Amino acid sequence: MKKVLLVDLNGIGKQSINAFPPLALLRLANLYKEKAYDVYFHEVKQKPKIKNPDIICFSTIFSFNDKSYIRYINAYIKAYPSATIRIGGPAVSINEDFYKKYLRNGNVEITIGQDDEIEKYGPDYSIKKYNFSAGYTTKGCSRKCPWCVVPKIEPKTYKDKNWTRFIGYHRHFNAMDNNILIFGASWLSEVLKELRIRKKTIDFNQGMDCRIFVKNKKIQDVLLNNSDIFSAIRFSWDSEGVSDYAKKTSDILASNGIHRKAFWYMLIGFEETPKDVWNRIVYLANNRQSIKPMPYRNLSDGKIISAWAQAFQNIFLGHWFINGIITEIIVDELKTYENMIKFMSYCEQHYFKLSTMNKDMRQDIYRKLNICKQSETDINCFV
Ligand code: SF4
Repeated sequence: MKKVLLVDLNGIGKQSINAFPPLALLRLANLYKEKAYDVYFHEVKQKPKIKNPDIICFSTIFSFNDKSYIRYINAYIKAYPSATIRIGGPAVSINEDFYKKYLRNGNVEITIGQDDEIEKYGPDYSIKKYNFSAGYTTKGCSRKCPWCVVPKIEPKTYKDKNWTRFIGYHRHFNAMDNNILIFGASWLSEVLKELRIRKKTIDFNQGMDCRIFVKNKKIQDVLLNNSDIFSAIRFSWDSEGVSDYAKKTSDILASNGIHRKAFWYMLIGFEETPKDVWNRIVYLANNRQSIKPMPYRNLSDGKIISAWAQAFQNIFLGHWFINGIITEIIVDELKTYENMIKFMSYCEQHYFKLSTMNKDMRQDIYRKLNICKQSETDINCFV
């Protein structure tokens, strides 16, 4: 009987440990079990529990880990010269040439984009315990945002009519649809109805499209009427071009009592200025909503291109996101864009991060920088 080793690359390289189930590997587990192969799951940095696997599968996720992935995969190619090495995932799909250049010679099969062979399979959640199910109900996106890899790796848009195969025994379902709202109110309604029947909660964790939300009253109704089963309601505010829609969406959510649960992805350092980002943070803070700034990265090496976005990331994003409370601290304490820049420069010089500062430390810095908490009329406290 053939032996298959599925290697989870999570935890390697620059990425933090990702609590997401390695979806491709869990689906391959079902595929190979159907062929009656022996399937073994192996986490990175553990010693494989089997000798001489016939097939070894890797799924690459973040392109900024490419070098670490390659080093690791090459070690396997060397250790198991007779095995077939299968590599897929977003990172290899984006940087195929890089992988072809640096992978050792061996019996290597690279899958670019979607792997049609595994499409009909759901994940095998018996492989390892996870806190939630993961999958998608649709694929692709009809927009072509210049910073986004989705049009490249998922060029076709379609509803996955058999999406419930992704739901496991877990109470929660994380749906990675790229742009669920382009599929309309009836699809959204159908998905949410099914989840409600199964007593599941949902998170469309890639960020929904505020332009469609504002223009489509039926979608607003479906989403707002089902907000109780959303663990987070995520939208994207990735460019100044969508600002009017983002503000309107934020206001609609706030006026329906949705504050912290509203979670905004925000691309920074692509075209927007620090002032644009400050204005967005202030707007969302006023609606008591959460933000996750996402610095734009060079896809080939994962480096953040803009110096200010890098500084912003270093100082404010110790835990990778600014939740509603921290957003309000920034806005409430710093008050103005000029103060934010002063604060950022000081922190950059002294390698300070917001996440490691308590209130006293912040106040100390504010005093040094002549930043003080002001009332509307107290304008003299600033130099
Ligand atoms: S709308 Fe979102 S998923 Fe679609 S191309 Fe733009 S950033 Fe990518």
